[in-house]
Amino acid sequence: METITRFAPSPTGYLHLGHAYSALINLDRAQAANGRFLLRIEDIDQTRCRPEYDAAIFEDLAWLGLTWEEPVVRQSERMAMYETRLADLQSRGLIYRCFKTRKDIENALSAPHNSLAGAFRSAPLAALEERDNLADGKPYAWRLSLTEAAQTLGNAYSTLTFTEEKDGGRVETPADVDRFGDVVLGRKDSGTSYHLSSVLDDAEQGVTHIIRGEDLREAAGLHTLLYALFDLAPPLYRHHALITGEDGKRLAKRDQAATLRAMREGGLTPDDVKGQLP
Ligand code: GLU
Repeated sequence: METITRFAPSPTGYLHLGHAYSALINLDRAQAANGRFLLRIEDIDQTRCRPEYDAAIFEDLAWLGLTWEEPVVRQSERMAMYETRLADLQSRGLIYRCFKTRKDIENALSAPHNSLAGAFRSAPLAALEERDNLADGKPYAWRLSLTEAAQTLGNAYSTLTFTEEKDGGRVETPADVDRFGDVVLGRKDSGTSYHLSSVLDDAEQGVTHIIRGEDLREAAGLHTLLYALFDLAPPLYRHHALITGEDGKRLAKRDQAATLRAMREGGLTPDDVKGQLP
């Protein structure tokens, strides 16, 4: 099977060294296998995305010497597809409307009998209550029902694993989906979510190897559940170390000095930047 990798940044800040590392690993991996490398713009959160960051992604990656396939997929242009797939989950009873506010959820999670810390579980409202909320125009998110997911997948639910490339070999890592609780798949503001959009796009684009930072290892468990529910073939995962700044903390978009832009403006060459990577 042809190897297809991808780098999928969100235009919510300038790319930094950590992004360069991830993008280069993905490109190298595709090239080594004579495969394809894709760039995808994850711009579903229109309140946080900025055109200047969007343009900078292309400029900075090209400056580093990366090349990718055209046309570049942009999630903001695929909202109708995400909606259709959410409607499919809805018709199968796998998602429900959640009208709770952040505060309601914090309170529910701090209740003394809540066993799995951070794992919010709930159920659809009674039909009349839901009808009233909708009539009042109350905003809601779509949450995945783990109870229904377990029902749908039967025994496979509790034994779900994902395949990770690690230390030159392959390991099966438990997906451990209960830890996520009933996650939001359709956000109140954008109508979709990172988890839903990213899984659907990776599957549709035929991505075979998902290589990203180890901060997303747990998310691979949830994504594996989504692949199973949509009956899609899951990819192989690899999680790379995160690049840290001088303070030992992982780089974030707010670390201006580590942005590729700042390094370039400071006179560094692409090779200097690559020389700073592990
Ligand atoms: N847009 C996500 C990010 O920038 C992509 C994560 C992923 O590679 O799946 O963190």
